[in-house]
Amino acid sequence: MNKRKILVTSALPYANGSIHLGHLVEYIQTDIWVRFQKMRGHAVYYVCADDTHGTPIMLRAEKEGITPEALIARVHDEHYDDFTGFHIHFDNYYSTHSDETRHYSEVIYQKLKAAGLITVRGIEQLYDPQRNMFLPDRFVKGECPKCSAKDQYGDSCEVCGAAYTPTELKNPYSAVSGATPVKKSSEHYFFSLSDERCVDFLRRWTRAGHLQPEAANKMHEWLGDAGENKMSDWDISRDAPYFGFEIPDAPGKYFYVWLDAPIGYMGSFKHLCVRENIDFDAYWHRETETELYHFIGKDILYFHALFWPAMLEHSGYRTPTQIFAHGFLTVNGEKMSKSRGTFITAHSYLKQGLNPEWLRYYYAAKLNGSMEDIDLNLDDFIARVNSDLVGKFINIASRCAGFITKRFDGRLVDGEGYKALQQTVDERFSGWRPDAIEQAFEARDFSLAVRLIMKFADEANEMIHTMAPWEIAREAGRDADLQRTCSLGIQLFYLLARYLKPILPETIRQVECFLNCNKLIWPCLAANEPVSQLLLPAGHTIHAYQHLLTRIESKQIDALVAANKQSLSTEQSGATTTAKAVADDKPKTVAPIAGTITIDDFSKIDLRVAEIVNAEHVEGAEKLLKLTLDIGSEQRTVFAGIKSAYDPEQLKGRMTVMVANLAPRQMKFGLSEGMVVAAGNGGKELFILSPDTGAQPGMRVK
Ligand SMILES: [Zn+2]
Repeated sequence: MNKRKILVTSALPYANGSIHLGHLVEYIQTDIWVRFQKMRGHAVYYVCADDTHGTPIMLRAEKEGITPEALIARVHDEHYDDFTGFHIHFDNYYSTHSDETRHYSEVIYQKLKAAGLITVRGIEQLYDPQRNMFLPDRFVKGECPKCSAKDQYGDSCEVCGAAYTPTELKNPYSAVSGATPVKKSSEHYFFSLSDERCVDFLRRWTRAGHLQPEAANKMHEWLGDAGENKMSDWDISRDAPYFGFEIPDAPGKYFYVWLDAPIGYMGSFKHLCVRENIDFDAYWHRETETELYHFIGKDILYFHALFWPAMLEHSGYRTPTQIFAHGFLTVNGEKMSKSRGTFITAHSYLKQGLNPEWLRYYYAAKLNGSMEDIDLNLDDFIARVNSDLVGKFINIASRCAGFITKRFDGRLVDGEGYKALQQTVDERFSGWRPDAIEQAFEARDFSLAVRLIMKFADEANEMIHTMAPWEIAREAGRDADLQRTCSLGIQLFYLLARYLKPILPETIRQVECFLNCNKLIWPCLAANEPVSQLLLPAGHTIHAYQHLLTRIESKQIDALVAANKQSLSTEQSGATTTAKAVADDKPKTVAPIAGTITIDDFSKIDLRVAEIVNAEHVEGAEKLLKLTLDIGSEQRTVFAGIKSAYDPEQLKGRMTVMVANLAPRQMKFGLSEGMVVAAGNGGKELFILSPDTGAQPGMRVK
């Protein structure tokens, strides 16, 4: 066999937040693929690292009163434990805050600069005059420029969904200090992605089979047609204070994420190379025969499919063989949600005592190698794991092993009986060849692999059901039949275990002990060889059957959901939202008082006491509740962004205050005829108002 040399990466998790079930889609997908390739005997290295730099890390460490180095060391250990708990095996799990990553960041930067692909220009950004720092988008808050919702982040509005830049916010304030930010100009470093050399290269590269077809089409859309130039240059610097690598020839300027995070793939691999004496250059040299694969979420495709290859190409390194993007995870058909308890961390899943291989199996059954989102339906999860893994797979061993142990001292059939067994396998189970499953694993179509394997399991169960060893066992003089039938069951179970090993490494490790066999490798079968070639040898002895895998109880899932409802008060879903966790945890800052108005200005706002006669969830809305408000003279429908803080049932019958003369607004879910006023920063911190007892619907608030 031609032994391939393969380097594989998963995206780097940000060192300011916990690993959750959404992240695990990618790491489990990658780990299954890597285990499959290793089982086939290829030389595969799987490396990853924590992405450790940036303002959120700096501010969080400061808040905790520790150094950023201490913070990232602690988070690194937490991440590593979570991954290990799910049997995700990296050959190296490192940190971007390393000498190796610094080295390659500097080398790549210098080479791009020498090629004339680094430019410097001034840009205007919001600056916190109290803390003397530029503010990242998520650290500026204010009123939405479109709908005027308060306390929105500098990049998008959570109420109306509008996207904008921080300088467009009304009444902006710094989430770090509460100060009003000022616009300030500073010199930034850019990678010239719009340079013709980059654009020409990317037009070819993105069409040369390195991307999934749907990803290649997306890139074509972003690149535009020949002659067009839709690329813009990428900002690769940030100003001090910043936790990261200082740019060599630019004091006070630091490499921003694009110029150190992906280079962390190289840094982590270099660290492994030194430890295990591997030739780094053999994997990163332009002319290399080795393969390089990046598994990523579709949200960072732009960056991995355009910026990263362009940067590698023009700094003299090899470019990726392929980029494998996957979709997002939904739970019960919706975005993961803290309030519903479906924002589930890896740690809580393990802490509740759930078997990580249940999740590995379920994800495998859903992943088809495309960029489609996958849904973790919790009822289906229970049903599928119980019926497939326990009911179909494990059941084969548990029904056959007892007789082999009790009646035949653990010995599988040999002699003429073994020949008969081989013949049965080659006649009835000739379809159990590895080829189709192998192709499905190679193409990351794990759902197809699982379907094929479970079809085999159905055939094995049907055979056992028909032959009914428990009946043969009751009849005198049929020992040979019993041994042959049960041996056949065990042999088929052994084959299924080989196919399932990339998905269920720990269960299959126990199967290897139970079957008393060598570590299972991928079955290899030449075209002219029969399936019976793959069986355990004649007269092989197995150990007594031990319990291999339990069923999921629905109360375990209920407990998991309940635990995540209670424990998660701040959202932590990776790099883009970690700023939010920091901001929410800050000591309370009070937004500045707005400019003075006259009594006439105020009297333009018609505030009315309203009774909430009905409140309900809105299908598909993340933040909104639909309220029916009685204001004496009429009833109004209002969509209020308070879902994160209120259960509709609690609201029914309550009195509150609404703006009754606000122009009606057409929203995605219907017409909103007014607005309910509320205080607070959002999330769980939202407080609607209540009048004192005695107030009647329709009374004006003056
Ligand atoms: Zn808005």
